[in-house]
Amino acid sequence: YTQAKALVFSQNGEPSDVLKLHTHSISPSLSSKSVLLRALAAPINPADINTVQGTYGSQPSFTSLIGTPNPSAIPGNEGVFEVLATGDPSSPIRKGDWVIPAVAQFGTWRTHAVAELDEILKINKEGLKATQAATISVNPGTAYRILRTYGPSAGISKGLAMRPLEVGSGEWFIQNGANSGVGRAAIQFGKLWGLRSINIVRERSSPEATEELKRELTDLGADVVVTEAQFLSREWKDQLAEITNKGREQIGLGLNCVGGKSATALARSLGEGATMVSYGGMARQPVALPVGLLIFKDIRFVGFWLTRWNQQDPTGRKHMTDYIVDSIREGKFKDVPLDEVAWNWETDASTLTGEVQKGLQGFRKGKGIFVF
Ligand code: NDP
Repeated sequence: YTQAKALVFSQNGEPSDVLKLHTHSISPSLSSKSVLLRALAAPINPADINTVQGTYGSQPSFTSLIGTPNPSAIPGNEGVFEVLATGDPSSPIRKGDWVIPAVAQFGTWRTHAVAELDEILKINKEGLKATQAATISVNPGTAYRILRTYGPSAGISKGLAMRPLEVGSGEWFIQNGANSGVGRAAIQFGKLWGLRSINIVRERSSPEATEELKRELTDLGADVVVTEAQFLSREWKDQLAEITNKGREQIGLGLNCVGGKSATALARSLGEGATMVSYGGMARQPVALPVGLLIFKDIRFVGFWLTRWNQQDPTGRKHMTDYIVDSIREGKFKDVPLDEVAWNWETDASTLTGEVQKGLQGFRKGKGIFVF
């Protein structure tokens, strides 16, 4: 039997209140379609915390599969595992392979798992760190899909069909939350694909720290980085005109990670027929849209949810994952700053749940990630 531990919750609430560390054992007998996995790394993403709190758009079902006192769920949507054993010796997935979840709400905050073959996706681990493999799906996937799908409408003569920004064209997009995992991925893909980006970040605690963050994003490939204060000021309109060649280069796409005032300012920065894609709501404020932007500028406002995309297009997801893995291996795509949390057999519950609780705090140096 394999001894295993998992973070679990059996009711919604604040992570430090409701998450428990559960110890259980896993039987050595595996069905022919299943594999035994050992966790290598799993990030703490905002959506995971919202899931524990009960504010996320979908909820995992509570079960008694790992013998918890109450029916419970294991949080964690993303991570990488090493295959320890396979039920079928001729299985395409072999001992030593690295796999990531192929399904939503896999439950990655655990030391071990038994998974069915169709719940996992094998990745080529050559030249990859576990922390990199653990973070390739959610953030890069979101940036990739949005940049490849959304953009301005092609005009009334073309039936108003939306087209994505044109690769290699230098077309602009603008985003808030630009230092988030998704934001950093969008900057890098934008650069790789010949697009230009305007990036909004919140001021740090000192001007030097703000400059350092701006430099970090510029090094990733950001064309313009502005602070939120600058972005929300009266002067922004003129500054934007300067950036976009007196408005001749219109911004066709906005990526909204934040909501609230920042989202309104983002919408106001867009060109005629542009699309604003909301994928996150970090400020927990609704998005207010001036009606004039809808009527006179014909701006489209849509939402994006990676889970739905992955369900509807598993083949596209596979290609995308391969592309991201290759880009990392070739040194073309850099990791986000990470705050590694060691999870050993001795690590106590409060250390783990405390790290989860920190995950929604702003101004963090890096994304929390469990490393096993
Ligand atoms: P990260 O944990 O990497 O970064 C969090 C970001 O949020 C930082 O840029 C941070 O800025 C910002 N932030 C935190 N608190 C606030 C606040 N109160 N007001 C404004 N900004 C704030 O995030 P991810 O990249 O993993 O996720 C970003 C968002 O995207 C989340 O809302 C997440 O749920 C969503 N998301 C949605 C997906 C989808 O399919 N729709 C898929 C992936 C992510 P600062 O450093 O200044 O604090």
